[in-house]
Amino acid sequence: MADKENLIEIKDLYVEYSTKKGVLGKVETVKAVNGVNLEIKKGEILALAGESGCGKSTLARTILKLEPIKSGKVLYKNRNISEQTKCEQKEFRQKAQMIFQNPYSSLNPKMKIGEILEEPLKINTSLSSKEIYEIIEEKLEQTGLSLNCLELYPHEFSGGQRQRIAITRALVLDPEFILADEPVSALDVSIQAQIINLLKKLKEEYNLTFLLITHDMSVIEYLADRVAIMYLGEIVEIGKTDEIFKHPKHPYTKALLSAIPGLNNKKENSKPLKGDIPSPTDLPHGCKFHTRCPECMEICKAESPKATSFSKTHCTKCFLYKSDKD
Ligand code: SF4
Repeated sequence: MADKENLIEIKDLYVEYSTKKGVLGKVETVKAVNGVNLEIKKGEILALAGESGCGKSTLARTILKLEPIKSGKVLYKNRNISEQTKCEQKEFRQKAQMIFQNPYSSLNPKMKIGEILEEPLKINTSLSSKEIYEIIEEKLEQTGLSLNCLELYPHEFSGGQRQRIAITRALVLDPEFILADEPVSALDVSIQAQIINLLKKLKEEYNLTFLLITHDMSVIEYLADRVAIMYLGEIVEIGKTDEIFKHPKHPYTKALLSAIPGLNNKKENSKPLKGDIPSPTDLPHGCKFHTRCPECMEICKAESPKATSFSKTHCTKCFLYKSDKD
């Protein structure tokens, strides 16, 4: 079967920003994304996994042009997003949407749901009020909400319903690409499954492409087609969901998986993480995971590992395996 077309390609991407630290306000550079190469294929759910502070959200925001690029590039449909014409920018704003982690803060509390849902259509299209209403009606039905909600305010809904409203808002412009940043982590466990199933259904219905950002490996196992594991701004392992869950290679991936209760972890895969993730203002030399790695060798402290492939779709960066370039 032919490979799916890439919707988004990230090439050798570096993102840095400055932050002030301590009472004296010393300025430090956060090296959030460090040489990422990644492809997001049309119609897939690619999950980006890793602990808080590993750079997932910064990478995601950079794809949506919300963070400045230090070097490298992001291509959308083979066009560099930093070189888009006005017309291409307009299309990109419509076709790439985001669902945020917290449905309590992502909806304007002063606006009625009807206003929240029609706003993107009024700003980005010249549709009539009737056409706008028909689109909202269709999308509300898809997300399991009724037209009665249009006259209400966000505070009148539960967390799960608010996330459905946020998803409806992301859908009204008929996007191709949705970036979902921890879409269920702020919700009650009892509601999480409903929203996960809704995202899966919408993906099929509208042939959507998703970048799913989450630290929750159980959500990834259920939803994602492929998984990229990120550590201190680098992709350390990538593969199909089955490859990552059944045959994890990188010690960091194994540690993340060992934290999932009930997963049939093999003994050699059950090595929980020690310590905290180092600060992205002071990256370790060599393999960035060496300060926490149970398999660390001398070479790991001095040199950065290159990629090793295990299949056409599965590769990792770790000195435990012979590099493709050796
Ligand atoms: Fe651990 Fe070395 Fe592999 Fe890094 S390169 S993950 S330190 S074994």
